[in-house]
Amino acid sequence: MAMEDMSATTLDLKEALQQYFGYAAFRGPQEEIIRTLLSGKNVMVIMPTGAGKSLCYQLPALLMPGTAIVISPLIALMKNQVDQMQAYDIPAEFLNSSLSRREYEEVKQKCLRGEVKLLYVAPETLLSENFADTLHQLKISFVAVDEAHCISEWGHDFRPEYRRIRHAFRGLEPVPFIALTATATPRVQRDILENLEIPDAVIFRTSFNRPNLYYQITPKRSQQTTLKEIVQYIRSRPGQSGIVYCHSRRRVEEVAQTLQANGIKALPYHAGMDAATRNRNQDAFLNEEIQVIVATIAFGMGIDKPDVRFVIHYDVPKSIENYYQETGRAGRDGLPSDCILYYDYNDILKLDRFLKDKPASEREAIVFLLQEMAYFCETGQCRRKFLLQYFGESYEADKCGGMCDNCRYPKKSFDGQEIAKPILETIAHLERFPLIPVLDHVVGLQGEIAGRTLPTFGKLKGHSLDEIKSYVAQLMVEGYLQRDPSDYTLVQLTEKGKAFLENPHPITLYPPYDRTPATADEEGLIEELTLHDEVLLEKLKALRKRIADERRVPPYVIFQEPTLIEMATQYPITSEELERIPGVGPVKAQKFGRPFVELIQQYVEENDIERPVELIVPSQPKKQADWAEIIQSIDHRVPLPTIAQRLNLTLEELLTKIEQIVFQAGVRLKLDYAVRTMLDPDRVEEVFDYFYEAEDDDIEKAMRALRGEYTYEELRLLRLHFHLSVS
Ligand SMILES: [Zn+2]
Repeated sequence: MAMEDMSATTLDLKEALQQYFGYAAFRGPQEEIIRTLLSGKNVMVIMPTGAGKSLCYQLPALLMPGTAIVISPLIALMKNQVDQMQAYDIPAEFLNSSLSRREYEEVKQKCLRGEVKLLYVAPETLLSENFADTLHQLKISFVAVDEAHCISEWGHDFRPEYRRIRHAFRGLEPVPFIALTATATPRVQRDILENLEIPDAVIFRTSFNRPNLYYQITPKRSQQTTLKEIVQYIRSRPGQSGIVYCHSRRRVEEVAQTLQANGIKALPYHAGMDAATRNRNQDAFLNEEIQVIVATIAFGMGIDKPDVRFVIHYDVPKSIENYYQETGRAGRDGLPSDCILYYDYNDILKLDRFLKDKPASEREAIVFLLQEMAYFCETGQCRRKFLLQYFGESYEADKCGGMCDNCRYPKKSFDGQEIAKPILETIAHLERFPLIPVLDHVVGLQGEIAGRTLPTFGKLKGHSLDEIKSYVAQLMVEGYLQRDPSDYTLVQLTEKGKAFLENPHPITLYPPYDRTPATADEEGLIEELTLHDEVLLEKLKALRKRIADERRVPPYVIFQEPTLIEMATQYPITSEELERIPGVGPVKAQKFGRPFVELIQQYVEENDIERPVELIVPSQPKKQADWAEIIQSIDHRVPLPTIAQRLNLTLEELLTKIEQIVFQAGVRLKLDYAVRTMLDPDRVEEVFDYFYEAEDDDIEKAMRALRGEYTYEELRLLRLHFHLSVS
């Protein structure tokens, strides 16, 4: 093509862009992609979501004679896409199973009359006999395969019908193909080209680096701790939009309810909800009526809210592709945004267990994707480097400027050259070879490899296989090793790996991640770390003493010591907050609460205290149902042993529940009748006298002081009765 012609084409394209879409300029490689497609060549485009992929086929469809067939797996989005096109006055239609027979026929006729430039088709429709007929009569300009990674089992969203796309065009006049995807590892890329039979395609890929996203992986402790951290995080970002992703619908509901209970405007979104509610919740998020949407991965496809400031993964995603796409919904406007993932290796194992029913070949690929996800979460290396390397892009910078947790807070590392050497040497001997026997060989589990014993045999004896696998994963990220793109079970040395063997040098490795789940001990540690405020506690005790003296009751009748400690930890400054402190409840809050709340409020202000997050767990209806029955029965003076029997509880368990009802919920039960049937009045008085004088109301102490003349249950009942009588 002569220079003049080229510039003429360029000019025409820009004009067309302005005319049809109202944009003044192309983004990134769009123009070059379009020109390549217009010249009749096959094209593959790998571009992150939001980079303007669709335009790469939409514009050429308008400029070429005939109808462009666009294959897309997302039936739900097709209508949106077509609506958008029609809004630009672009003749676009779609065909999928959501259409009635009549609608289908109408669209088909329009196509045959040449009135449609872009026809969106679901793969099932494309493969149907009915449509095969239509295809033969159509003048096709080119075929666009959107979400092309669905072709590959090694992608994150495999769809078997996608592998048969090429079949549908057999026997037709050849037209160019354009395959587009937002995520493709080198392996998936290869699958796409092979399956669509376009080995000669011109490949365009833009960088996957999103420099404004901060990546952080946080070990997932208990559900409580995780929720608490999430609440604290969101509260510290008022007015900023965010998405919380969870795996299951149930978890979505739970997390949304917890956020709501803690004063955060949040709504759930998952496939189990009816479409109307789902759309309403989605709109509420887009219109910023709510701050947070809690969703399964169903949320976000085709949504372009530019100012999502954080994406939190409550559960680990099934693949790095999923992670990349979901975190990619943050910070589209280019401003700094956070991507936080809560990781527990057990979540990986759980996902793994769901795979039992899958066919073996598919399973192998899914396990591989999960494993890579685990390595990503567990690595001490720069997360950005890991991600980009995964997508076949090398990231040269050593650190990402503190935009990932590992760069901001480096983990402990060591010089791993003595570990790297035997692994790389073994592979160098064998050239392309499956990884597992290599590992078995170096740790000394399998003496013979490829019919011989290599000098590296047993060099890493004493290291576990999991440990060595972790090092291999790290060596891959650093570019010393790579998987064979045609068969991912095979590994081979890279140039960098060969250079290392010729001239060994220090290699930074990180010890393997400790996969043992956070245990109760760790929980305990956290509890211990949240120390109460000694100064405030003393003030609270003094206040309690004053009130107790005025009322002539022992101080612990007002509030017990653990309750005061909790106040000195949580700093409740409203009556509602005070009610939620264990041992307060609405009645005591109303009766004694005010001076306490005022004291704390003043203290918080004077000392400029940042109050910790108190996680409010939405109440569980089951527990309350139980309580209601107990309260009612006591109202009706049903003997306690009978109530216990009815509810299938021991007397001790029943007493525990009654204590909760009285001390936590603050319900004033009338227990006189129960006390009377158990003990005569003299004895009741003796116990009351004891509790009046006692330092606290510990039952064990009471038993000893009262010479063991009362049973444990009797004392607990009397303690309850005492509290109810004097407070
Ligand atoms: Zn980094």
